[in-house]
Amino acid sequence: MNTRLLINGQFLSGEGAVEDILDPASGELIARINAASPEQIQAAVAAAGAAFAGWAATVAKDRAALLLQLAAAIEAHAAEFARLESLNCGKPYLFALNDEIPAVADVFRFFAGAVRAQQGMLAGEYLPGHTSLVRRDPLGVVASIAPWNYPLMMAAWKIAPAIAAGNTVVIKPSEQTPLTTLKLAELITDLLPPGVVNVVLGRGDTVGAALISQPAVRMISLTGDVSTGSRILEAAAKTVKRTHLELGGKAPVIVFDDADLDEVVAAIRTFGYYNAGQDCTAACRIYAGPKIYEKLVADLSCAVSSIKYGDQHMDGVEMGPLISERQRSRVAGFVERAAELPHVEVTAGGKSAGARGFFYEPTVVAGARQDDEIVRREVFGPVVSVTRFDDVAQALAWANDSDYGLASSVWTRDVGRAMQLAAGLQYGCTWINTHFMLVSEMPHGGMKRSGYGKDMSMYALEDYSCVRHVMVKH
Ligand code: NAD
Repeated sequence: MNTRLLINGQFLSGEGAVEDILDPASGELIARINAASPEQIQAAVAAAGAAFAGWAATVAKDRAALLLQLAAAIEAHAAEFARLESLNCGKPYLFALNDEIPAVADVFRFFAGAVRAQQGMLAGEYLPGHTSLVRRDPLGVVASIAPWNYPLMMAAWKIAPAIAAGNTVVIKPSEQTPLTTLKLAELITDLLPPGVVNVVLGRGDTVGAALISQPAVRMISLTGDVSTGSRILEAAAKTVKRTHLELGGKAPVIVFDDADLDEVVAAIRTFGYYNAGQDCTAACRIYAGPKIYEKLVADLSCAVSSIKYGDQHMDGVEMGPLISERQRSRVAGFVERAAELPHVEVTAGGKSAGARGFFYEPTVVAGARQDDEIVRREVFGPVVSVTRFDDVAQALAWANDSDYGLASSVWTRDVGRAMQLAAGLQYGCTWINTHFMLVSEMPHGGMKRSGYGKDMSMYALEDYSCVRHVMVKH
């Protein structure tokens, strides 16, 4: 298991504070890792800065070839990546192996192809005697800050478009879940020139804050909490850095009376509780039509009660623990406060579970109202609220009445109504009769306080690069 920083192609022991890395299924220590010192953070940014000119000057097909090799190397080490991700995050091992690692490899493959197929406006004469053309060029050093819920996937979403576009990167994984990013660093050193990708470790308020404040950093990419996004914007304002912010979510799931109830229930059972609900697109805020509401609550509560949760290696396990005791008590607090409301009924789960580790029961909170905290705030745990609506206008208004704007879904057999809702929802993504499906070709990103900037797709390449005008006088 690699526990060292990657700076300029060298693995170095951190010289900063010690971080305990825990297995959330048992609470036991997996590793003790030293964070980066201020000098090591500076050295990482300097290495990325020194590598930039050479990397930016490589041709797209050469960068693409290296990304393809990296994708193949990730697949070749899939079992090890899945083992580490599962151990460090508590994810069911087979979900990590079969869902996440192939998606991670696909992200590198997509950007290998995408960087060779970019399009833009035509060169031409817009002033007599002059030819204008547009270039798209990299920005320089990108500081990437990742969260703990999908550590390797978030590293891929950040590193792949940045380096495909010709930037160099210093990435800081979450202090809670650095293990797979450190494993990725090993594959990166085998393939990429020194300094193109550097990895530093440590907490946000120390290492993260020091990293993003470095003058040579040209862009900051964060996936994290809204409050962290605000802090990053304040820091970025001082030196006018570009920012790319993927923040939280509170996905509305609008279920009309004509929806296929069995499909709705199966989807919420899966996508409300995947990764123990620690997912910014989790199907967590259900709005159900007046006729379907009662049966939806009954069937969903029954289905959710059957979710098999437990240790990440247990046979048939569908849901693991939360990431930490802190996260579990935060989730428990939301449910306890909701349960005190007279109109609310907890119809499945509703308490912490397990003799050890940070488990919380898969939970359904029925009868929730639009102004309730459980409907308005991101819980980031295995908790789904259900609210009854009266008509289309109310469903749309309530769905949009949120600080968040990342993902949403609409469930109906009426295509016209689905399109009407899709047009009116203020969310970066709207799924119709499904939820949670992401593909590398399509953009993922938020509106409102869920942030801005796109992960994946051609739009991410645009975010990690800059359009420039070159004019030639004849
Ligand atoms: P977090 O904001 O606490 O931490 C995210 C990262 O930011 C960590 O690496 C942390 O160390 C770092 N950080 C914290 N303070 C910092 C600072 N002042 N300067 C620099 N770096 C700092 O978030 P988390 O708890 O790790 O992740 C959960 C959050 O991430 C949720 O809100 C979730 O919705 C969001 N998320 C969003 C997406 C998306 O695509 N929009 C994806 C996954 C997670």
